[in-house]
Amino acid sequence: MKAAVFDGEELEIKTVADPRISDTKVLINVKSVGLCGTDIAIIKKSLPSPTPIILGHEFAGDVVKIGDNVDPKWLNKRVTSEINTNIDFSCFYCKKGKYTQCVSRKALGIDIDGALAEYIALESYLLHEIPDSISYDDATFIEPLAAAYQIFETMPLDANDKVMAIFGLGKLGLLITQIALLKGLKLIVVDSSHKKLKLAKKLGAQKVLNRFDGPYVPDWIKSLTRGLGADITIDATGNPLAIKDVIASCRTLGKVHLKSTHGLDTSINLTDAIVRELTLYTSRCGPFDKAIQGLKDGTIDVEKLISKKYPLKDIDKAIDFNNISQDHIKTIIHI
Ligand SMILES: [Zn+2]
Repeated sequence: MKAAVFDGEELEIKTVADPRISDTKVLINVKSVGLCGTDIAIIKKSLPSPTPIILGHEFAGDVVKIGDNVDPKWLNKRVTSEINTNIDFSCFYCKKGKYTQCVSRKALGIDIDGALAEYIALESYLLHEIPDSISYDDATFIEPLAAAYQIFETMPLDANDKVMAIFGLGKLGLLITQIALLKGLKLIVVDSSHKKLKLAKKLGAQKVLNRFDGPYVPDWIKSLTRGLGADITIDATGNPLAIKDVIASCRTLGKVHLKSTHGLDTSINLTDAIVRELTLYTSRCGPFDKAIQGLKDGTIDVEKLISKKYPLKDIDKAIDFNNISQDHIKTIIHI
């Protein structure tokens, strides 16, 4: 089969052996894959990954073959999957139901071969059925949308949480924008792309700030929040340098949520965070059921977030587009 393989230096389309299924696995014919900042971070070698590796973890496809011990209901189903596989179901975290942090977990397309290929073989426990009303392209948003929902699973809101500032309007930032608005938060969004800021405004963000157009962003946010800063600030930039502003823009006793996984070192003024008693949150993978429901009932719009679509053979063009275009949000690869 054809697959996009990163060999440690370059991402290339190669012909590799078809994956084989065991008794507990299914074979999926991949239809659509979304490129993620994580894929780009691996290609740029800021996020370490074993090589050679087939990248891709935001995907949708059809189950075309099932192992002997797999529930027959999965055959021919349209599916997407969780990204953490190799779960032992017995470790400290698994016993607490936190399978995404299993000590033996391997992440698809990051630690082991992923979905930028004609086929992928996966354990059936990872699967989620895609409702008919959700297209394959839209279904590639289920994994990142679940990760966006996870912010609110791990960071409970209280009566003082009224204003959220979101830094970075990539795919994740624009998904977080939509969930935060549904939760009734007032939003300040920060990016350097006028096009993305315009989209955030259209989605309902109350204030949009282009970081190149105004004063020092934390001062700007304070000027909009009675001199205090936002109750919650979110880093979804993928840029380690932005985290300083994310912390400085949060009001004293507020909440900071760090969401970018760029793999790069950063330095922050922790003393400021300590003195002002900020609470720092992080989160990763989230609830697929909520993400599927959000797409199914139409409360989350992902169509507007698709910037371009490429066939697998043009993966290098897709990566170039991702790297060059300031305005790109999400690139889809058709297999
Ligand atoms: Zn475990």
